[in-house]
Amino acid sequence: MSSDDLENSFKILKQTVPLLIKHKISADPTNYAIWYTYASNQSPELNQAVDSAIDSFKTISEARALDMYRTHVADKQEVSAWQLRQSIDAMITEFSQTVKDTRHETNDFRSVMDKSLDGLQKVESEGFSVEKTMSMVRSLVKEGQKIRNSTLTFSAAMANAEKEISELKEKLEVSKKEALVDALTGLNNRRYFDSEFATAVASGQAALILADVDHFKKFNDTHGHQMGDLVLKAVAKKLQQACRDGAQAFRFGGEEFAIILPMSNQDRACHLAETMRRNIEKLQITQKSSGKVIGDITASFGVSAFEPGKSAGKLIETADKQLYEAKRLGRNRVMPIK
Ligand code: GH3
Ligand code: MG
Ligand code: MG
Repeated sequence: MSSDDLENSFKILKQTVPLLIKHKISADPTNYAIWYTYASNQSPELNQAVDSAIDSFKTISEARALDMYRTHVADKQEVSAWQLRQSIDAMITEFSQTVKDTRHETNDFRSVMDKSLDGLQKVESEGFSVEKTMSMVRSLVKEGQKIRNSTLTFSAAMANAEKEISELKEKLEVSKKEALVDALTGLNNRRYFDSEFATAVASGQAALILADVDHFKKFNDTHGHQMGDLVLKAVAKKLQQACRDGAQAFRFGGEEFAIILPMSNQDRACHLAETMRRNIEKLQITQKSSGKVIGDITASFGVSAFEPGKSAGKLIETADKQLYEAKRLGRNRVMPIK
């Protein structure tokens, strides 16, 4: 690696930490990978996604960070792993230079480092390379002071780092299982919603739409559960297609959906809900077995908007009450009336 590369990757590494602090992002490996990639300007799509999340919410929800990581960073694992390797190399060079011990000890240090780099190489070929590498970087930084004092301590630090890596791997397995996406509709799920909505409300300006398919139990009874599933897919698609200005649709559960509108208000949310209602009303689904076209699909909508002092839970409750009103007044409508 040329010294220019070294210098550059170290520069990026040094920009990453202040960004995490500035945006109140916790320094876990996922966030670290996102912001390292952000600072490196390696992925314009990622930078755009980060900028728009910060614009809307001033920070990035945990779920969205995971989503961004999977979309923009994990896919490009090769590039990221390579970049991180560069950072580590840069870090080692810096550490070696600042080790004030005897030349002998410095050499010891260097050799332990080389060994750990071999380990890293293996880690890369075994997958989870970015996370593992990242964890290694963090441990190296954290243990930097100790390293300067004693190579013995450093060995302990390396053992510690290994422990941290395996814990991290376990956490990643778990987080992979706790998916963020609803398998039927492809929309983000309730877990994603909870995280994202809390962040939206904390930003101080957001609106919420809750939607519930009308008489869906009867629909299932009449046309079968499979047709019911097709309806949910089609409804989800209509909701998602109508989303503008950072609005996001989620499957809230069963035949219920939620739409978060960041930086929005009651009027705009009601307007969007009305568009969605009309689009769903027009839906026509063909039953494959019989060729029969099924229409008459409708949904009811309840809207609420952020007010100072109102919690995320309270906003959901309000939207739910409005949804109940829409049902009570005959369904296929948006409440409150604008
Ligand atoms: P309302 O207009 O008052 O909302 O009536 P409803 O029948 O839609 O409401 P209810 O809560 O009584 O019934 C909801 C139904 O949605 C019952 C359940 O079987 C169905 N449902 C929930 N999830 C799914 C799903 O994933 N697929 C299918 N096909 N049906 C589902
Ligand atoms: Mg329901
Ligand atoms: Mg319903």
